[in-house]
Amino acid sequence: MRITIFGSGYVGLVTGACLADVGHDVVCADVDEQKVARLQAGDVPIFEPGLENLVRQNQKAGRLTFTTDIAEAVSFGILQFIAVGTPSDEDGSADLRHVLEVAKSIGRHMTEYRIIVDKSTVPVGTASKVGRAVAAELDERGVALEFDVCSNPEFLKEGAAIEDFSRGSRIVVGTDSERVKFAMRECYGPYNRQQEKLMFMSVRSAELTKYAANAMLATKISFINEIANLAERLGADVEEVRRGIGSDPRIGYHFIYPGCGYGGSCFPKDVKALAHTAKQAGYPAEMIHAVERINARQKSKLFEKLCLAFDGKLAGKTIALWGLSFKPDTDDMREAPSRELMEALWQAGARVQAYDPEASDECRRLYGNRDDLMLAERREEVLEGAHALVVCTEWKAFRTIDFERLRDTLLAPVLIDGRNLYQPDTVKAAGLGYYAIGRGDSI
Ligand code: NAD
Repeated sequence: MRITIFGSGYVGLVTGACLADVGHDVVCADVDEQKVARLQAGDVPIFEPGLENLVRQNQKAGRLTFTTDIAEAVSFGILQFIAVGTPSDEDGSADLRHVLEVAKSIGRHMTEYRIIVDKSTVPVGTASKVGRAVAAELDERGVALEFDVCSNPEFLKEGAAIEDFSRGSRIVVGTDSERVKFAMRECYGPYNRQQEKLMFMSVRSAELTKYAANAMLATKISFINEIANLAERLGADVEEVRRGIGSDPRIGYHFIYPGCGYGGSCFPKDVKALAHTAKQAGYPAEMIHAVERINARQKSKLFEKLCLAFDGKLAGKTIALWGLSFKPDTDDMREAPSRELMEALWQAGARVQAYDPEASDECRRLYGNRDDLMLAERREEVLEGAHALVVCTEWKAFRTIDFERLRDTLLAPVLIDGRNLYQPDTVKAAGLGYYAIGRGDSI
């Protein structure tokens, strides 16, 4: 099948590479000339396990190409995927500027039937807006061409994107057109062989499904963080509570890990966008607002714990940070808890020495060269001359530490564990001040 994908970010690039890998011919179009030039040279600008290989192999096989030529992209695929960003607008709603820009381009250049596939996360009603944008362009050109718009939200997670795309639990498609169903079956056929994963539903249900999924996951995180905060006050250990509730199959272990709040490009903006949608619909979505408030509070926890450990005297202190990305196996720092912590530390007059296996370049891009930030190549380097270590991201490489050595290296010595990676007894026995999330007397 000939497929066009607009947007070569995490979602567009993974979708393009995976669909090419199962034999489709794919053109990925992006407006970012630099990005496209790098991709054309086989250089993948983001870190995502396995992606660079997949892109190169399929480029070599001639099934995957990159372009900035929008007219060429529109004329290429019968399926026109929209996988561009939908960031938060000032009022929390999803900014549809890029999505509608692509829709207009399709209307401006199409010369035969096209199926437009909304893969970006977009609010209920967007498929109709996309349809109107395409139709307006066709009207302006004075041509009558048939097209369909369907919703096909993406559920991949960064860090495991290829695996999720290829072996995800479901493929949601919102459409009432038989022609679209047929085409989407053909597109996703290779992923639908062992069991029926395609779920056809109405366009509006598909659009809401994506927000409901992310809001549910964010709710689980905020819920356990609420319990963690309570556990701190009650002298209980939330890790014991987590095991106690996760063992109930009705609850399960997924997404109930307490920590320093959720970040990334999706949960924060999607929870906000859902709250905005609810407001527009005249419905007071109280739980959604609470999820957001709890998370905002949780993101300040690491700084609060440092204040506690140092009696509020952070000016002139050097703090070591392990983990900058919002979660392991990605270099994405959008809304990462590490950012809130670093910015608060700088505000308080402290220095930061940070290590992340993949996100140092991204951190440099975001904050530039500053005297109060040192980025290191090895995790041990950031400990030299630091008063405390804060673990922000649960990269595998942080799971084991020589606590005695850490105690001897740190000036204070204090360990703030934002992901509950260590055993309180072991850390304390080594003579370190230990502050975790929701672990009873650790506060
Ligand atoms: P991204 O910011 O990584 O990439 C978006 C790309 O779109 C950029 O390369 C940008 O240059 C390009 N673009 C912007 N306007 C364009 C235009 N008019 N024509 C062509 N390209 C254009 O975004 P992302 O993380 O891939 O997310 C894309 C969408 O998928 C969002 O709606 C997001 O919510 C959703 N989503 C993201 C994830 C995730 O984990 N990142 C998961 C599921 C769904």
